Amino acid sequence: MPARVVRAVRNARPINYRIVPVDPAGHYFEVELTVARPDPDGQVFMLPAWIPGSYMIRDFARHIVRIDASHGRQPVALTKVDKQTWRAMPCAGPLRLVYRIYAWDLSVRGAHLDETHGFFNGTSVFLAVDGQTDTAVGVQIERPTGRSGRNWRVATTLPTAGAQTWGFGSYQAADYDELIDHPVEMGEFLTEGFTVGGARHEIVVSGAADTDMARLVADLKPVCEAQIRFFEPRSGRAPFDRYLFLTYAVGQGYGGLEHRSSTALICSRTDLPWPGMVGQPDEYRTFLGLCSHEYFHTWHVKRIKPAVFSPYQLKSESHSRLLWVFEGFTSYYDDLMLVRSGVITLTDYLKGLARVISAVQRGSGRRLQSVAESSFDAWTKYYRQDENAANAIVSYYAKGSLVALAIDLTIRSGSGHARSLDDVMRLMWDRHGKHFDRDGTGVPEGGMPALIREATGIDLRRQIDAWVHGTVDLPLVDLFEELGISLRFEAATGPGAMLGFKLTDTGNGCRVATVHNDEPAHRAGLSGGDVIVACDGIRVEREKDLQAVLARHRIGDTVTLHFFRGDVLGTRSLQIAAPVESQATLSIAGATSA
Ligand code: ZN
Repeated sequence: MPARVVRAVRNARPINYRIVPVDPAGHYFEVELTVARPDPDGQVFMLPAWIPGSYMIRDFARHIVRIDASHGRQPVALTKVDKQTWRAMPCAGPLRLVYRIYAWDLSVRGAHLDETHGFFNGTSVFLAVDGQTDTAVGVQIERPTGRSGRNWRVATTLPTAGAQTWGFGSYQAADYDELIDHPVEMGEFLTEGFTVGGARHEIVVSGAADTDMARLVADLKPVCEAQIRFFEPRSGRAPFDRYLFLTYAVGQGYGGLEHRSSTALICSRTDLPWPGMVGQPDEYRTFLGLCSHEYFHTWHVKRIKPAVFSPYQLKSESHSRLLWVFEGFTSYYDDLMLVRSGVITLTDYLKGLARVISAVQRGSGRRLQSVAESSFDAWTKYYRQDENAANAIVSYYAKGSLVALAIDLTIRSGSGHARSLDDVMRLMWDRHGKHFDRDGTGVPEGGMPALIREATGIDLRRQIDAWVHGTVDLPLVDLFEELGISLRFEAATGPGAMLGFKLTDTGNGCRVATVHNDEPAHRAGLSGGDVIVACDGIRVEREKDLQAVLARHRIGDTVTLHFFRGDVLGTRSLQIAAPVESQATLSIAGATSA
């Protein structure tokens, strides 16, 4: 399309954004926002306080370093109303904002820009035009000026309004909700794709040039296919035309965020397959689990949503007691989809499941907080964990996935294996997800027991009360036994189990990350942050040094730990106790140990 026509199309829309990586070295994006018909009483603009999928207040507006408004050649006064809101003086015609955003957050949640690449979520860069968030918008994505961006391409699922695939240029969104649900990566990256469910899928990898892209395609294609068939067994159609796995590889990192037709992933370079890689390293299996998890969210949380997220309220915290369903069930199905599609072995699947069971069992916080409470308080507890988290909270991901497992096994056993949690998921999809664009009715806060009963004929109100709203341990041992799988708990080994804490090596002593309540370290008065430097007078640089000293002791013995709390040296005597039996193992028919 000629530039003149592109401009005309762009200007036809009442709201237009133009984003420019204006200073990659200084990490600045500049955005020009034009509103054709601003509110005659004074147009209000707002940036979200959080990004859907990551339940924590992040105050993205704090990265706006400069903002100006104008009407034609006349400056228009802007008043800041609160931490994320501006009001422009009334003006009759088109209102133009120009603002600069500092983008130096290397995570899937924010915006990042340097001379090698740019990445942004709309929540970090696109101010919402109050009163017009249902309006279609145009988005012009510009190449950075200067030499650095000459070979850059653009990876995004924003619908095109003239831009070529992988190209800079004109894009569009039907409303603000869509605008902020298509992250954008720009730079030089690897791509490899496949088509399943009628949709083109592309894996985009930035930051790891030696990735074995063919291996990624071979492993992810069956997983995507299995998930599409799971939700749409009849049509086999994906609910999108194109899907992107936007992967950014770093030295050390892990995370993902789901979107309606893409996911932003961050991983360690060594998590990705490389040419000549032998077998399936644990790190790669974990990465596949992450991809599977975020992909499952395309149906479950991006389309099937809690009613309180329909629509999202982005000015402040939006509480739901249902994250155990949306994150927990997704965590249950992520690895399950890998084993169902034949990408991982049953033995590896059971090993991973045993690790989740162990992690939940290790924390005494599970006796204080239910998964419904954990969901509700995600904003201030799960997302803001400190050294006491294991004693105070339970993860709605980990325990939520075990609740899903318990519900699944109970349905299977109660229906003679005629029904399962899969039927519940498909009912949720038909009722709350498939037509979300049209009716958008989310899952009511107390809606799960009725959905389970409708899908399976089984009444689980009593169990859900206990497992979700209570703090009792789940009856996994009995449920597994019915399947011929034995779940056993054993004592873990090592300093952490013997003394009741979790350590991280600093290379110059061991930092106490967690002190478990009512175990030796807690009784002796060790604290999170203490750095252990010696045990019984012997220097401790790493956890294995402590291990070597403790190996000479048995339960009931007393050891002396020397540690720094801040810059003050302290000494405590700890009596070694019998380790808590939290280590789960799963084995089939009493034979295979997993
Ligand atoms: Zn998730």
